[in-house]
Amino acid sequence: MTEYPRVVVDLSKIKENVKFLTKKCEGNQIDVVGIAKVFSGSIEIAKVMVEGGVKYLGDSRVENLKQFKSLDVPKMMIRLPMKSQIKEVIEHVDISLNSEISTITLLNEEAKKQNKVHKIILMIDLGDLREGILPKDVENYMDQINPMKNIKLEGIGVNLTCYGGIIPSFENLGQLEKISNLIEKKYNLKLNIVSGGNSSSLDLLLKNNMPSKINNLRLGEALIFGRETAYGKNLEGCSYDSVKLEVEIIELKEKHSHPVGEMGLNAFGKTPTFIDRGIRIRAILAIGEQDVDHSNLKVIDEKLIILGASSDHLLLDVTDSEKKYNVGDIVEFELDYGSLLQLTTSPYVKKVFY
Ligand SMILES: *Cc1c(COP(=O)(O)O)cnc(C)c1O
Repeated sequence: MTEYPRVVVDLSKIKENVKFLTKKCEGNQIDVVGIAKVFSGSIEIAKVMVEGGVKYLGDSRVENLKQFKSLDVPKMMIRLPMKSQIKEVIEHVDISLNSEISTITLLNEEAKKQNKVHKIILMIDLGDLREGILPKDVENYMDQINPMKNIKLEGIGVNLTCYGGIIPSFENLGQLEKISNLIEKKYNLKLNIVSGGNSSSLDLLLKNNMPSKINNLRLGEALIFGRETAYGKNLEGCSYDSVKLEVEIIELKEKHSHPVGEMGLNAFGKTPTFIDRGIRIRAILAIGEQDVDHSNLKVIDEKLIILGASSDHLLLDVTDSEKKYNVGDIVEFELDYGSLLQLTTSPYVKKVFY
């Protein structure tokens, strides 16, 4: 018996996206880190990323990177390590992104204990205001990192368009290039990685406007959804529909479209509002806010209207559809980054790869 709700993943489409985009990057001497975090550490996704040509695998969580042990590429932790997780990071991660000296000091000590040299990318904040040290502090940090025997500064990096919505440009990534030149010269070393951001940097790359020293991008969304994320444009030559959600109907009845009786609060303590469309055919689907924020879902049958959801129920108006739905039928949804992230995190939602 097939189990629902389930996220259905077309691995061949994702693999083609990975091949296409890693080629594009290669043409600009850029290595790709495949970021698997939106799939909560699924080895299937990590595998096709490696088969498609990524040079590194990246994830925000050690727990996920641990799952990728059998895949023979360096593992990059793209969220700053927690001090409470230093041991696991040294054990399971080859390269971590960092911005705090006290954390790097702990990594150095633990790496020594485990007889390892741990590689780090020093993150620089160029305006997006999430992680990273400020450019004026680079030399101060370098002076402290440089003497650490069990830490190797593998490179520097930036993250943009995540918190502040700042778009990668020739100017801000040019600043990263300048900082890399300064470090190499002053400390007489070679940075192997100058990491110029995430899927939001692809637009700059495709316009051939990427500063030449940028040799690494960390791509997640673009590989899965075929989309750059500075402007949200679909990337030509990619597939955009590699994933979909399937949910089962558990009730189907004609009912009023406006609730009947005195109105108080809904399940989430809010006063609800309704459009009165008269008597309509309504379907209840077996998924809810515990699994996914319903406002991030898009139903593929365009004649269906998403009415709302409670913890475990999603309500649809199916009156206008050409298809006649029955209890037990499956309704399909398109996903975006936010909904996929939530769904792959819910233990109630199955994942099927083909
Ligand atoms: C999530 C993340 C990425 C990947 O971002 P996408 O938009 O999915 O390409 C890259 N770097 C860092 C630090 C991230 O947190």
